Amino acid sequence: ASDGSAPERAAVSPLTPVLTRRWLSPESWSLRTYEQLEGYTALRTALSAEPDRLIELVKTAGLRGRGGAGFPSGVKWGFMPKDRSRPHYLVINADEGEPGTCKDVPLMMADPHSLIEGCVIAAYAMRASTCMIYVRGEALHCIRRLHHAVREAYDAGYLGKNILDSGFDLDMVVHAGAGAYICGEETALLDSLEGKRGQPRLKPPFPAQAGLYSSPTTVNNVETIASVPYIVNGGSDWFRAMGREKSPGPKIFSLSGHVERPGQYEAPLGTTLRELLELAGGMKDGIPLKFWTPGGSSTPLFTADHLDVPLDFEGATEAGSMLGTTALMIFNETVSVPWAVMKWTQFYEHESCGKCTPCREGCFWLAQVLERMVDGHGTEQDIDTLLDVCDNVLGRSFCALGDGAVSPITSGIKYFREEFLALCESNRGQDTTEEPALAG
Ligand code: NAD
Ligand code: SF4
Repeated sequence: ASDGSAPERAAVSPLTPVLTRRWLSPESWSLRTYEQLEGYTALRTALSAEPDRLIELVKTAGLRGRGGAGFPSGVKWGFMPKDRSRPHYLVINADEGEPGTCKDVPLMMADPHSLIEGCVIAAYAMRASTCMIYVRGEALHCIRRLHHAVREAYDAGYLGKNILDSGFDLDMVVHAGAGAYICGEETALLDSLEGKRGQPRLKPPFPAQAGLYSSPTTVNNVETIASVPYIVNGGSDWFRAMGREKSPGPKIFSLSGHVERPGQYEAPLGTTLRELLELAGGMKDGIPLKFWTPGGSSTPLFTADHLDVPLDFEGATEAGSMLGTTALMIFNETVSVPWAVMKWTQFYEHESCGKCTPCREGCFWLAQVLERMVDGHGTEQDIDTLLDVCDNVLGRSFCALGDGAVSPITSGIKYFREEFLALCESNRGQDTTEEPALAG
């Protein structure tokens, strides 16, 4: 906690799945299995309610965006204008591209109808008549699965005209992106959907004012929308009973890297890495933890000192990082921090869209300096140069990509400065880093 006292702990009940409850059922992706396991019951309830009451329900439940930023979903839905003079759009951001993030694709593969049901409820609440699901182009298997599920939903009357005799119409389009990380930024995604080169737009106006084709639009993450049917069925109190007061509900945590059983672990927000590691069988081969990301490489690194940080939006921030996408990449003592930081920086350099100078030039130079250091030709001045360039990128870039790009560098130097120093030519004799254990 910010006052130095022990953080308020959540009642942790891992392995009480909500979003993942159907994942291990036979043919979990089929409409038949979904219907057998309460699928589309929330939609029937929702369609008999006033749209505004659904928005209030999501607000009361305290659902926050699962794409990384944690913006309150009900508040975002409430920004959509009530008048229908222009078409309203719901756009699902399924462009999951943050390094280490792998929760939305498994969700769509295992349980695509939970997303579709959530979309219909959300679209009804926001008076949207078209829903677009923007999926990253590399996930071909996922795109096929969604196409199949959408067809099943149309055939069963859950999509299309007069859904379940409610008078509500909704069309759904599954759109394949072309594999650019920046198209996960919501306004770049909208440009891409419109057939343009994906680059972020100036905000405001936010999408609810002027989004797809300049019409009112809400962009929500897959996991966010897939949570909605459970809130409709379970109610806001049930949802709030999980997690922490300001970050309620269950969350899918993706563990990768040096753990015995990498994968998706659903647990209430506020669960710690120590608890998640227990579920995942501990560190691989018992080699101690060195550093980890709480929410993908755009979130500042944590170390073994952060095992008990509650992983919710406030807890991760108070401890000096961010919750992000809950993509926990775990690295053991064999991994060189400067090497890992260099690999991430090369990724950001490659994915920078080039629209603004701090990010376009900054990522290029950061990668150059880090490559030189890792090649063994760095100088002590390079550490200051890195921090200086980071300072000129952070907060000065047009979108969050620039801020994210410097996170691993500044936090890596903060916690492991001696490893960067050991790479400098004058210190080569004292080099303590080992060959990286993970391939690039
Ligand atoms: P943001 O905080 O700017 O916005 C989050 C959402 O809230 C957006 O939908 C935005 O429109 C809305 N919003 C914010 N302020 C608003 C206002 N005043 N009025 C109306 N709406 C408002 O964050 P962002 O740039 O959209 O996203 C950054 C996050 O994305 C990072 O935290 C990172 O973790 C995450 N991320 C995720 C992935 C992934 O693969 N899922 C990839 C890269 C980054
Ligand atoms: Fe493009 Fe990077 Fe600027 Fe974002 S921060 S607009 S990705 S150049």
